[in-house]
Formats: sequence, C-alpha cells, structure tokens
Amino acid sequence: MLIVMEARAGDEAVRRVCDEITQMGLTAHAIPGSQRMVIAVTGNKYRVDCDHVRTMPGVSDVVHVTHPYKLVSREEQAEDSVFDVGGVTIGGQSFAVMAGPCSVENRDQTMRIAKSVSEAGARIFRGGAFKPRTSPYSFQGLGEEGLKILAEVREAFGLLIVTEAMDTETIGLVAEYADIVQIGARNMQNYSLLRKAGRLNKPILLKRGMWATIDEFLMSAEYVLAEGNRRVILCERGIRTSANDNGHVLDLGSVPHIKRVSHLPIICDPSHGTGQKYKVPPLARAALAVGADGLLIEVHHAPMEALSDGPQAITPTDFDTLMNDMRNMAALLHRTC
Ligand code: PEP
Ligand code: MN
Repeated sequence: MLIVMEARAGDEAVRRVCDEITQMGLTAHAIPGSQRMVIAVTGNKYRVDCDHVRTMPGVSDVVHVTHPYKLVSREEQAEDSVFDVGGVTIGGQSFAVMAGPCSVENRDQTMRIAKSVSEAGARIFRGGAFKPRTSPYSFQGLGEEGLKILAEVREAFGLLIVTEAMDTETIGLVAEYADIVQIGARNMQNYSLLRKAGRLNKPILLKRGMWATIDEFLMSAEYVLAEGNRRVILCERGIRTSANDNGHVLDLGSVPHIKRVSHLPIICDPSHGTGQKYKVPPLARAALAVGADGLLIEVHHAPMEALSDGPQAITPTDFDTLMNDMRNMAALLHRTC
C-alpha cells in the first residue's frame, strides 16, 4: 500500500501517519518526492483495511498494491483450476458449452431443446426452474416441477444440468437436482447465498453482476472458496452501459484480465451479454478467441413463443452451426470443444 500525502502536508502529518501504520503492526517507509511525500507500507500479507488512514490530516490518496482477494488469486495458486463435472472437464484445454432455454417452460419444450443441443454436441444443459424476473408478473419458473423435468433430461440424454438457485431457502433443493448450481447476476453479492453455495458439494457457476467491477466479482467467488468449495466457474454475462439495446455489453476484456489475476475458469454468456440473437454467434466465437473456457447459450425452438428471453434465443439449427464453428476454431487454438 502507498499513502500519498498532500503537497502541503507538513512533517507532523507525515509522522502521525507513520505512527498509525506502526500501531497497525506494519512498517512505514517515508519516501520524499520533489512535490510530496509518499509513505510505502510493508509487512502486510493481504490488503490492509485502512479507510481511517484515508481520512487523516494531510493524506491525499491511498493506493493499494495487494489484491483484496486471496483464495481465487494466481498468487495463491499459479496453475489454472481444472476440474471434472460428471465426466466433463472444466478449464484447461477444454472448452465447455452449456446450452438450453432460458426457462424450463414445460416437459415437451425442454425435451425437444435438450435433444437438439445434445445432437449438436453440447454436454451441459441449461434451463431455469427458478427465474429471477424484473417484473413480479412475468413467468417465474416452474420451481421443483421444472427441476424434475431437468432430471428427466439428464436421464434421457446424459446431459449434465446447470440451473439457477435464487435464494437460501431453495438452494439445497436445487443442488439435489443440478450438476452445477448457478448463482445469477442479480445475486452475485447475496453473501448468505454465496456462503451456502460454498458449503455445497457441487460446482458453482457464478455470474458477474451487471454493475460489478472485476474485483467485486472475484470477491464474490472468494466467499464460495472461503467456505471450502473450490469448484467455481465464473461467467461474464455483460455489464450495464448505455451503448446497447438491452443496456448490456459483453465485457470480453474481463476474460484476459481475470485469467491474469485468478486461476478460476471463466466462461462467457453472449445471450444475456447482448440480448439479441444475431449477436450471439459472433460474440461466442470472440469469447473463445479471447481465451474463455466455455459458453452459456440460450437456445429455443420457437423463440417468439418463449416465456422469457426470446429475443436472445438462437434456434437449434443456428446452435448446430455455431457448434461446428466452435469446434473448428477450438482445434486451431489447441482447445477441445
Ligand atoms: C439466466 O442465465 O437465465 C439469467 C437470468 O442470467 P443473469 O443472471 O446473467 O441475468
Ligand atoms: Mn435468460
């Protein structure tokens, strides 16, 4: 940590800040510059909680050098996290595609889409049974009935199931049916839910909140790892800007950034990240190009009739074409899809 003093801060202010640092059990090194004094702080293993130092007389700024997270960081684990979920590898050379409808609407719709995504080569099926909807009057999902349909999908097609848990009351139930438990963007900072997810023996797909910085996103993953669950898959799903129709822009730059600072696998969701089906295939290809470990794609056989997120759903035919493209591109990049 570096404490930058104001240009007019006197010796007394510098001494008081140095004393405070010493009181905290750390070492202060006052470095005079041509304009101002900078105090370098050493002796800390993790980021220092120092809001009070920021408010001391003569202090202009506090610059952190240490990351606020630890278990998710590359400093803690240099090599990529690679793990197996029911025979499918997540991370490393593997590129994992998760696809299916936004919502489980009924048995026929779900089985039909599952058949098509399985035939196209996906190994993981997505579908929400508990849906976080902006309006309380919109379709909220089938609940446990939806989970039972997802279990039928696993049985019939051998697909793994990823589905969302929305709250601490139902996460246990969701985990009984799911192979991977999704925590949605809106719940990224629901710390009691994250803690519960951290105590499950199931991998967690953690989606980035649409408002969240990368540090906040990684701190949320830290909650899960801190409880003992190290199988976390991050998901970049678009952040709020004013530049897009649905207000979200897929932040592809977050992928190399996160790969640099964290060992966790990260996949991209170009469906929610764009909100428009014609943008899904190009951004799916871009996600692989920037080094993502997989995709989350919404597929619907009749997007116009979908009970949620129809405008961003691609058809089974388009998904099949996309999977071919992904396999060809993955081979070029020495990844397996
Ligand atoms: C979803 O995956 O269907 C979903 C609701 O996503 P998000 O939490 O990213 O909005
Ligand atoms: Mn959706």
